[in-house]
Amino acid sequence: MLTRIYGIAFADKESLKDYLKMMEEAKKRDHRKIGAEMGLFMFDEESGAGLPFWMPQGTKLRQKLENILHKAHRRRGYQQVRGPEILKSDMWRTSGHYACYGENMYLTSIDEQEYGVKPMNCIGHIQIFKQTGKSYRDLPLKYYEYGVVHRHEKSGALHGLLRVREFTQDDAHIFCTPEQIASEVIDIIEFVDSVMKLFNFDYTMEVATKPEKAIGEDAVWDLATQGLKDALDENNLPYTIDEGGGAFYGPKIDIKITDAIGRKWQCGTVQVDFNLPERFEVEYVDEDNTRKQPVMIHRAILGSFERFIAVLTEHYAGEFPLFLAPTQVIFVPISDVHVPYAKKLQAQLMDIEIDAEIYDKNDSLNKRVRNAEKQRVPYVVIVGDEEVEKQSVALRNRRTKEQYNLSFDEFMVELTQQLNEGKI
Ligand SMILES: [Zn+2]
Repeated sequence: MLTRIYGIAFADKESLKDYLKMMEEAKKRDHRKIGAEMGLFMFDEESGAGLPFWMPQGTKLRQKLENILHKAHRRRGYQQVRGPEILKSDMWRTSGHYACYGENMYLTSIDEQEYGVKPMNCIGHIQIFKQTGKSYRDLPLKYYEYGVVHRHEKSGALHGLLRVREFTQDDAHIFCTPEQIASEVIDIIEFVDSVMKLFNFDYTMEVATKPEKAIGEDAVWDLATQGLKDALDENNLPYTIDEGGGAFYGPKIDIKITDAIGRKWQCGTVQVDFNLPERFEVEYVDEDNTRKQPVMIHRAILGSFERFIAVLTEHYAGEFPLFLAPTQVIFVPISDVHVPYAKKLQAQLMDIEIDAEIYDKNDSLNKRVRNAEKQRVPYVVIVGDEEVEKQSVALRNRRTKEQYNLSFDEFMVELTQQLNEGKI
């Protein structure tokens, strides 16, 4: 029997100490633990391994992230589309997925015909592109989709939201001319940069080249790989090379982010592809009236919502900024007579898209404040006689446990300012 033993070595005692401290911190921040405490998501072996269920709090968090990105995509000229969840296997044969990725796909049969559950969203976007004739004036054309994909992962590889069998990619495909590749890649990197800055992530880039199992000619691969490197070089963006790490249909730039405790995570990716347009005979009419093949750029910035939310949860240790927090404000009325006032304020906050709840169960005031703080709600707002009379709120700072008063209008201004920080 061959036993594999993994080891890790440290240059000195100090680095070993740092490593152990990081491991300790990682344990505290484990997204599976925080996810359960905050009621974000759950798994159910009875229903199937690696299939996440999003609970109310997790759905609110995810929705906020989705909304931030919807706006960011539209601002950058992307159009939202949506393809079917399953497609005939013939489509997956044409794309090369059947041969190169088949072992990770789920297959089913309808009317005695084989279908494959999509492991990627590319074909849906290709078919939409092809539906109406396109000209050079339409390019670059950018489609995006929060695409649900299914991939077979070995049960031993599953790990919370980091490795699942069903997930949603923030996926986009850009159809463009070869001359437009460099500027499109640069625009994507700008997009990546704003997303990563929003969450205070440092990141690095890696250019991954042709893998062993691949489709397409070497010359086409060289052209696409050079296109990616040129875009980065022209803008003095540093990168490393991952030899043989590309997708089976094209080379890619992988984006690796560093979280608050120094761990690196692979999330986003940018891939240049000459192969799928050829296989699906994707064309546009050029200025000189000839038919030409566009290039396809596949890109995801978060990677998947599942994985990114796992990373975000550990990065923030569940203390999400206001613009992401599932419940953003919780009102704690001192007694029943203060509930109507809390309800009035709650309605006004809902109007500016703040998720506010009222905690008016029969628990003692102290217990309610403590529970609200445990839920990591950014603002715990206490309302009593004085607040009703002055139309104000008493806010508790969760970290310092200090309490301070603001007029309700001032509070609205503070919240709006913090919501605006979520714009990219
Ligand atoms: Zn794709």
